[in-house]
Amino acid sequence: MRKLINPTDVARETFKQLAVRRIPPTPDHYEEIYHGIAGTPEEERIPPLAKQLEDTLSSLPRQSPELSRSLDQLRRCIRASNWEKVTELAIRCVELQGGQTQLARGWAELIRDLVKQWDLRNPNYTAARKQDALERVLINFGGDPSSLNEKLDGLVRAWGETGTPSDGLGEADEAVQPASSIAPMALDPAAPGGPASWAEWRESLSHALDLGLAARLTHYPEIAIEAAALAREADAVANEGDLQKFMPRLKKFWIRLELSNSQETRLCDGLLSLLRLLTDNIGEIIVDETWVRGQIAVVQEIMAQPLDMRLIYDAEAGIKEVIYKQSVLKQGLREAQAALKSMMSTFIDRLGTISDSTDQYQQRITTYSEQISRSNNLSDLKVVLENLTHDTRSMQLDVVRSRDELVEARTRVNEAQTRIDELEKELQAVSEKVREDQLTGAMNRRGLDETLTVEAARALRSGKPLGLALLDIDNFKKLNDVRGHSAGDQALIHLVAVVKSLLRPTDKIARYGGEEFVLLLPETDLRESEAAMLRLQRELTRRFFLHNNDKVLITFSAGVTLLAPGEIGHEAIDRADAAMYRAKQAGKNRVEVEVPPDTVASPG
Ligand code: GH3
Ligand code: MG
Ligand code: MG
Repeated sequence: MRKLINPTDVARETFKQLAVRRIPPTPDHYEEIYHGIAGTPEEERIPPLAKQLEDTLSSLPRQSPELSRSLDQLRRCIRASNWEKVTELAIRCVELQGGQTQLARGWAELIRDLVKQWDLRNPNYTAARKQDALERVLINFGGDPSSLNEKLDGLVRAWGETGTPSDGLGEADEAVQPASSIAPMALDPAAPGGPASWAEWRESLSHALDLGLAARLTHYPEIAIEAAALAREADAVANEGDLQKFMPRLKKFWIRLELSNSQETRLCDGLLSLLRLLTDNIGEIIVDETWVRGQIAVVQEIMAQPLDMRLIYDAEAGIKEVIYKQSVLKQGLREAQAALKSMMSTFIDRLGTISDSTDQYQQRITTYSEQISRSNNLSDLKVVLENLTHDTRSMQLDVVRSRDELVEARTRVNEAQTRIDELEKELQAVSEKVREDQLTGAMNRRGLDETLTVEAARALRSGKPLGLALLDIDNFKKLNDVRGHSAGDQALIHLVAVVKSLLRPTDKIARYGGEEFVLLLPETDLRESEAAMLRLQRELTRRFFLHNNDKVLITFSAGVTLLAPGEIGHEAIDRADAAMYRAKQAGKNRVEVEVPPDTVASPG
């Protein structure tokens, strides 16, 4: 049917339908057909008075599930024009509402008591137990003010009792029983605490949050801010609707508070075990002081920052790995050294044996030669000769055996020496790890600091220039966004590989930040440094970064400068950074030069 808009047309059509469909023309039938033709939405079909009634009742705060249910029922009856039932339900709603207002009045007293009992010491209820019980109540009943009131009241009573622990525990556990199991004490105006006004309730909660909690959370500025914000929100709670919005936020806040508390404990434990680990191992590691330096630096870095769980875990894992590897290597070193020592003593033993036996032979030969000169018959000579032959042979055997042993000993000594060399190299590499960026293998900030100090001193001594460049990959964020973070990681690895392959062995690369790198170019003047960076840019256009078989072009913007005589590295880095910024401003993928102070610009 065509939709009619003009009320006169609708009315005419309504009469027509009543006639055609032979429907008795009662007001109800007329209305129903009229709305059908006019296409009046369901919610606009109710009589204006009924609508107003519905609106008024709907605005009542839904302080209990029962009230909420009754209001919904009432609404349905209005819709169905079930007027008899509407009257009955309206009265019921108003009654329930009155009861709820009384309940709400108990809140202020309840919270005051809760805060009081929270602070009071009770041997049966440690702070942790109280917190645990409160947490359970908030989690289970945070969304239902009536039950929450009841359960919190149960808690307050339990905490206030100083009887046997089992009594207290029973009460606390009751706190998570279904709502029907405890009489709603706050509903009873005669109960201790008595009724209180919304305003009092709000004020108490707000004070508890602001003065009681926020003021104590100095170590957790974020949570303190949240507590203060909640206090302000509590101040603004004016009706049940507000309360329903507010309670879940309050509940979340408690949970967060508890988590931060346990986080703090874990933080301290983590820190302690880290320190223990270090002190335990310092004695072990002290063999070469450079090993210790890196590890101590890690701890110092952590101590210098606000405590962060993740940082501590990372540091602990890193240090554990280094310590483990070092101990393995050191064990190997010790074994190799022991082998060497034992070879040496065999060697000396053998030498001793040889000289001993040669001494013996010497003596015997003297004796034989005396016998020979004295003898005057062949049979005597024959005996001497036989003895001599025998001794000579055994001496020969002795010498051969000793020589073999010596050759073998020498081989083993050589092997041990090689192994020691390898182990020492490996040990050095492991120690270097502390100064290396895990992802790219470039130096990290710590490595850069150390190298910069060394290179700056060298440059000052030798009077040779030290080139310094800072490069920042262009549009790296986009690469991450388009191809994913792991592609970004691979691109960083690729860049460092290209840099390492292109620069001189004495040049150094360090990861300065996310996608920023610092290059140190010893004995390189400004123009050569600039040329090196331009060469690097060209090389990157030749050696594409391959991702999923796509050739991805990585470009960077760089700032180049020289370390001024006597300058500490960071001023030079700042200068290179400024130049790099200019390169970005000028359209990226270019190299800008910043002349150091007290230096005349070289041409080019
Ligand atoms: P511009 O050309 O101006 O330098 O823009 P950009 O996108 O390169 O610079 P921006 O500073 O806006 O973004 C740098 C991005 O680098 C943001 C960060 O997510 C990303 N990033 C930092 N470290 C890493 C890392 O280790 N791996 C990956 N994949 N991305 C990183
Ligand atoms: Mg950047
Ligand atoms: Mg960038």
